[in-house]
Amino acid sequence: MKLIGAHVSASGGVENAPLNAATIGANAFALFTKNQRQWVSKPLTSESIDAFKKNCSDHGFEPGQILPHDSYLINLGHPEAEKLEKSREAFLDEMQRCEQLGLDRLNFHPGSHLKQVSESECLTTIAESLNVTLNKTKGVIAVIENTAGQGSNLGYRFEHLAEIIDQVEDKSRVGVCLDTCHSFAAGYDLRTAEWCEAVFTEFENIVGFEYLQGMHLNDSKKELGSRVDRHHSLGKGELGLEVFRYIMDDARFDDIPMILETIDDAIWEEEIKLLQSFISDGENG
Ligand SMILES: [Zn+2]
Ligand SMILES: [Zn+2]
Repeated sequence: MKLIGAHVSASGGVENAPLNAATIGANAFALFTKNQRQWVSKPLTSESIDAFKKNCSDHGFEPGQILPHDSYLINLGHPEAEKLEKSREAFLDEMQRCEQLGLDRLNFHPGSHLKQVSESECLTTIAESLNVTLNKTKGVIAVIENTAGQGSNLGYRFEHLAEIIDQVEDKSRVGVCLDTCHSFAAGYDLRTAEWCEAVFTEFENIVGFEYLQGMHLNDSKKELGSRVDRHHSLGKGELGLEVFRYIMDDARFDDIPMILETIDDAIWEEEIKLLQSFISDGENG
C-alpha cells in the first residue's frame, strides 16, 4: 500500500501533527518532535505523549506511517570534538523522543565535513555517531536522508549512504530516505521513467531497497546537478511529474512513509490526491 502524506506542523504540541495530517487526507506524515532550530527543547510531557498516541490511533496512523525529522542544527560528522559531542547529545535526545512517542524511525541529514576533514573521515565519524546512539536506545531506526550536496554536506552520492551503513554495527537499526529534489539537485536525473529505472537500479546495487525506510516527494526549483536544495510544488519545478508517476506505480515504494515537503502547504491535499491518482488500479489496496 502507498503511504502518502506531508511534513505537517506540530505547533502547539506533537499531538497536533496527526490531526493536521488527517485534515489533508494523508495516510502518512512527518513532524519535528522539538523546535528544529533550537538546540534544547522542553521534554515531552506525558500528557502530550498520551495525546499523540491517542490521536494517531484515532486516525489510523501506525508507527510505520510516521517519519519524524531531526533538528537542522545537528551535524553527526562534525570535525571538532566539542561540537560533535553537542550534536550527538542532541541526536540522542531526538531518538529518545521517538522512543517515548512509540515511533520506529528518525530521519536525519548525515552531516558536513566543513572542509576540515576528508569525505571518508567524515562518513566514518557519522557512522560512529550512529553506533554510539544506537547503543543507548532501542527500537528506533536511524534513517539517513540523501542530500543535494549543498556546501560541504555529505550524502549526495548513494555511495556515501552505503559507506555509512557499512560501518554501522547493527544493520537492522539503519535505513535511508530518498528525497527526489535532493537526488535531482545532486545529479541523479529522474525526469523520465527510463532514467528513474536507471537511478533506482543504481540505488539497488549500491545501497539496496531493503534499507529504504521513507521517501521525500519534492519537485526542485534548481536544475539537475545544481547542488542547491530548493524544493518546489509537484510538477512546478525542474523535475516534473514523471518521477512521481513512476514511484506511485512501483511496488518497491510500498509500505514506507512518503512525505511531501513542498513549499505550498495550502495545496498538500491536492498534491496527495494527484499522487493517489497515479497509483494503478489493483495496487491501491
Ligand atoms: Zn530533510
Ligand atoms: Zn527531504
